[in-house]
Amino acid sequence: MMENVKGKVVAITGASSGIGEAIARHLSDLGAKVVLGARRVDRLKVVAEEITAKGGAAVYKRLDVTDTNDVKEFAGYAVEQFGTLDVFVNNAGLMPLSMINSYKVDEWHRMVDVNIKGVLHGIAAALPIFEEKDSGQFVNVTSVADRWIGPTSAVYSATKFAVRALSDGLRQEVSRNIRVTLVAPGATESELAETISDPELKKLAIERFRIDLLPAAAIARAVAFAVSQPSDVDVNEIVVRPTAQKNI
Ligand code: NDP
Repeated sequence: MMENVKGKVVAITGASSGIGEAIARHLSDLGAKVVLGARRVDRLKVVAEEITAKGGAAVYKRLDVTDTNDVKEFAGYAVEQFGTLDVFVNNAGLMPLSMINSYKVDEWHRMVDVNIKGVLHGIAAALPIFEEKDSGQFVNVTSVADRWIGPTSAVYSATKFAVRALSDGLRQEVSRNIRVTLVAPGATESELAETISDPELKKLAIERFRIDLLPAAAIARAVAFAVSQPSDVDVNEIVVRPTAQKNI
């Protein structure tokens, strides 16, 4: 596994906590050079310093994925720092669940802006670099909600369905040497539930659905599996749930 990961330059959005942070740490352990992006630079700094202290190569840059120029600069920063870009992980996301008739319109906009437009910005930033060298890999982190819908998850699921559609469309359009992988996690330890603004719903979500959680490292291992395949093997989709998660 190490062989195909070692030396690769991997840029990760949303690397300041949860799954993105775990991807950065794990791929670095396997020898990748990692570029961390998110808004909380204090958190990025700590992660990058810890990776560097272990002998890894990590840099970070403030990134708001809703800003297309920011994302372009982030991908450019990877090339500037490490000479190339091999993998772009579209991971940043939020999940403010709510019933549609709560009319949390600002949160709907926010999810569309981060979960969908953020991924589009990632594609627009990294694809020209991949096309120029005719190689590269997108890893798009969706959710089991990219194929499952329930009360309170309509908008969140819609954003993740969109990314699943985008990923497969992209996979078909790009050159035979560019890979697109979708990783769909089930309930995973992270700060994601913090984005639920309704206190009762947050409590319910945590008590009913966020009990049997995967460690974020489990998703990082799935990403590593996809990245580690030989370049002519594109792992299209990986769905990873806690074994006990049967209902969603
Ligand atoms: P966290 O809340 O721990 O991490 C979310 C990350 O996204 C943070 O690093 C945050 O960084 C970043 N982020 C949010 N908004 C922006 C923005 N505008 N620009 C840049 N970065 C942003 O949750 P997870 O680790 O769980 O979430 C990662 C992905 O995994 C998401 O796409 C989520 O939908 C998906 N997922 C998670 C599951 C789970 O159970 N945990 C299950 C299924 C999917 P900052 O605030 O510093 O900008």
